[in-house]
Amino acid sequence: MSQNRFQALVLREEDKKTNASIEELTMDALPAEDTLVKVDYSTLNYKDALAVTGKGKIVRTWPMVPGIDFSGTVVESSNPKYQPGTQVVLTGWSVGEKYWGGYSQYQRVNSDWLVPLPEGLSTREAMMIGTAGFTAMLCVNALENANITPQSGPVLVTGAAGGVGSVAVAILKKRGYSVTALTGDIEKHAYVSQLGATAFADGPQWQEVPRALEGQRWAAAIDTVGSKVLARVLAEMDYGGVVAACGLAGGADLTTSVMPFILRSVKLIGVDSVMLPTKDRLHAWQRIVHDLPMEVLRGITAATVSLNDVKNAAEDMLGGKLKGRVLVDVNAA
Ligand code: NDP
Repeated sequence: MSQNRFQALVLREEDKKTNASIEELTMDALPAEDTLVKVDYSTLNYKDALAVTGKGKIVRTWPMVPGIDFSGTVVESSNPKYQPGTQVVLTGWSVGEKYWGGYSQYQRVNSDWLVPLPEGLSTREAMMIGTAGFTAMLCVNALENANITPQSGPVLVTGAAGGVGSVAVAILKKRGYSVTALTGDIEKHAYVSQLGATAFADGPQWQEVPRALEGQRWAAAIDTVGSKVLARVLAEMDYGGVVAACGLAGGADLTTSVMPFILRSVKLIGVDSVMLPTKDRLHAWQRIVHDLPMEVLRGITAATVSLNDVKNAAEDMLGGKLKGRVLVDVNAA
């Protein structure tokens, strides 16, 4: 592949439908941002799956190169902080939604969105972690900043076999927490147990609307599902319990009452990875190197796919057929 011609997955809107195809682009087709990056890896996140299949309103400008995160090497930059050869990682900032993203062999981005790769992490490992793993780290940070410790009691992780949930279980386990998992599929129990969950919370009650207060079960929780699941999590929290909520895999609604907050002092903390200030990103990436064992991370990476295979993997993700993370090798044939 000549450096001037390269491949990207491009989404175009045709008759209100999303059409995804591999296109050969030239450098002058890339956005006029200050830093050119040779991309090594991207990943498949829930948002990417919605964008690529057209099943969710994620893309805000057309045509779009999706991929909300990537890792690679700086080729050129007008920002002196990013010399050619610097390895970088990018998550969030509406890349892959509003600005062109990681499903491309080269991308030009705003250098303010980049983070230098932390020492001890390869570009492959950085994307095995990706936005999902990074968000899991932010959730654990949120709980610990609210004074949760392994001595506080059991921590519940919902959507535990998903990308965020898997990494959250692994990090919590490494930090000495007792982790209970909620996963909709009993076949995924072995996988989630391997990551470090010691109990499962599954049961028909998760399909039902909870009472304002249920029996107290959890010192803390990381919720990736939202909707009825988050409502039940809140109702089941211990007195003083803390919930970090980052996802809406089960729905964006939340019907609850003030009871958990005013009678049990429960704290509900929102976690966002997209617009997070850079200093907090640097801190979270540094922490992840220590708090996520690499051998566990390898077990979380379910598959490595090429740009050609992204669409099928996206359908599988939305169909709930995946466990763990999908790495996208943008240079694979
Ligand atoms: P995945 O698709 O990998 O995992 C989501 C998991 O949620 C599934 O594996 C499944 O868990 C569970 N789930 C899916 N649908 C339902 C449902 N209808 N009811 C109950 N459980 C369900 O996605 P990610 O882990 O990548 O992302 C999870 C959520 O977090 C998404 O909503 C995503 O948009 C959000 N997110 C937010 C970020 C932020 O910055 N706030 C950043 C990254 C992600 P199981 O298989 O265990 O049943």
